[in-house]
Amino acid sequence: MASSYKYIQILRFFVQVFFMLALIVGIHLNAWKWLLIPIFIFGVFFCGWVCPFGTLQEWCQMAARKVGFKSYKLPLQIQKYAFISRYLFLAFSLLGITWGTLDARRTFTDNVWTNTGQITAYLIMGAFIIASFFTPRPFCNYFCIGGARMGLYSIVRFFGIRRNQKCCIHCHLCTKICPMNIQVEELNFVRHPNCINCFRCVGVCPKNCLAYRKCNSLGQKIVSNQNK
Ligand code: SF4
Ligand code: SF4
Ligand code: SF4
Repeated sequence: MASSYKYIQILRFFVQVFFMLALIVGIHLNAWKWLLIPIFIFGVFFCGWVCPFGTLQEWCQMAARKVGFKSYKLPLQIQKYAFISRYLFLAFSLLGITWGTLDARRTFTDNVWTNTGQITAYLIMGAFIIASFFTPRPFCNYFCIGGARMGLYSIVRFFGIRRNQKCCIHCHLCTKICPMNIQVEELNFVRHPNCINCFRCVGVCPKNCLAYRKCNSLGQKIVSNQNK
């Protein structure tokens, strides 16, 4: 099972390259808006497979690991509250408080290629790109209101990562590799709004306890608060 998920990682990489190239040649993300429709059923594939700014952060993190940089994550006690930040920013934006130059994803997808952004926006975007060498997807995790919106839609999804607790040996590998800082090993079904369907947790499980499957019920735990 895990080996088939390794091929999925290769496929995911090529899909990410495709959408990055599409942006570079001038095909705006709005052209792919129909890809958002299946979120309610399948989860947020858009963030893990399509979004070029998410991809860029992921590639920076991969490059940093290759050259031996250490990757940092917030301590669990802070993370369990910090993940809410992007939902707070979403709430502010719904109240009319504009995100403007702080929205590094928009700067990257809308302004970089047309050279129409403000210098402040470019500096902020650059800061997030540099930060992603040291921590996975910093903008996605804590600041992206687009990701927050899609994440909230995905809470009702029917398909997601299911963990077979009978075979789990609590080796922590799935939790450690998750770029969105989800405590995978504490959930029976990952319906966490931050999950981006990257399947990295599935591929790393030494016991093949994780798989992308249909959920059994809507009542399963969404967010873990346990500290292991
Ligand atoms: S969270 Fe935002 S920046 Fe990250 S992949 Fe999703 S839409 Fe893109
Ligand atoms: S990687 Fe697999 S065995 Fe290890 S904690 Fe996660 S689900 Fe359990
Ligand atoms: S839970 Fe698994 S699929 Fe979801 S973001 Fe984390 S590593 Fe990716």
